[in-house]
Amino acid sequence: MIALGVESTADNLGIGVVAGDGRVLANVLDVHVPAEGGIHPREAARHHSECMGGAVRRALDEAGVNAKELDIIAFAQGPGLGPCLRTGATSARALACYLGRPLVGVNHCVAHVEVGRMATGAEDPLTLYVSGGNTIVSGYESGRYRIFGETLDIAVGNCLDTFARAAGLEYPGGPDIERWAARGEKLISLPYTVKGMDLSYSGLLTAVTAELQTGRHRVEDLCFSLQETAYAMLGEITERALAHTGKPELLLTGGVAANKRLGSIVRSIAEEHGAKPYVVPIRLAADNGAMIAWTGILAYNSGIRTPVESSHVNPNWRMDQVEIPWRS
Ligand code: AMP
Ligand code: MG
Repeated sequence: MIALGVESTADNLGIGVVAGDGRVLANVLDVHVPAEGGIHPREAARHHSECMGGAVRRALDEAGVNAKELDIIAFAQGPGLGPCLRTGATSARALACYLGRPLVGVNHCVAHVEVGRMATGAEDPLTLYVSGGNTIVSGYESGRYRIFGETLDIAVGNCLDTFARAAGLEYPGGPDIERWAARGEKLISLPYTVKGMDLSYSGLLTAVTAELQTGRHRVEDLCFSLQETAYAMLGEITERALAHTGKPELLLTGGVAANKRLGSIVRSIAEEHGAKPYVVPIRLAADNGAMIAWTGILAYNSGIRTPVESSHVNPNWRMDQVEIPWRS
């Protein structure tokens, strides 16, 4: 069994080729970098449609696979930016129809968890998924990935990226903020917003940007304070969910999982609760096509198919709406 997976929920176009035993044969990435400002959905979608043909060809070449050897075509059906999702879905439908292969629509957030389990060997983790577009604490329970906590407004990665832009740092902001934060010394008081099990990052972003504009602080201290506050909020809800569920493992994934400070917070929480920590390697933690291909295989093997006529994308598709028959 060989699957091709199309990831196009936001600024990354990813094409993955994965075998039925979990071997990643290719994982091609084409990143759209906006000329200025944040992601413009239509411009990102144009980038994806321009790069699609080349990316599919590169992925097949890298995998050493002929298109006719593909058994299924999987695509990220949601959640994400509408124009970007539609570009990926259109290409996946075209490939599936041309090759006469089944199409499998995959939930992007579920795919992050599944490829994380596959890559690390974690079996039943509580997952902290932190990226440019999502901030979710979830765990498997009674047939679905239940959401224990999530952001009520912007994602933590979006908060980092937007602040980085205001501070004139590199895009995307996470890595550069991490470098500057390493030289920070002073903790500036910033809004710490945890509501029940959920989080809010928009007030933190507004406040740290306002502090930047006063010119009273070193950028190092602002980055340090932003990281400490943003990650402490994540740590609080993750720890509570871990204590509540008693899960034996704690998995950190999404692009923000590359952050060393967050990794150490997650490790210490896991240790405190006797859970085993896992951090997904960056190539599979950030948005990528292999995670879609792999989850497509799991779904297909459980009898899931997505007929072309009902393969419309769903920009607001929550992971807790998806049945997970391969784990029941
Ligand atoms: P994704 O949406 O999963 O592709 O992840 C992209 C997000 O990860 C962006 O918001 C980046 O700023 C963020 N990111 C990447 N590397 C780091 C890092 N070292 N620390 C914090 N955030 C990071
Ligand atoms: Mg993602």
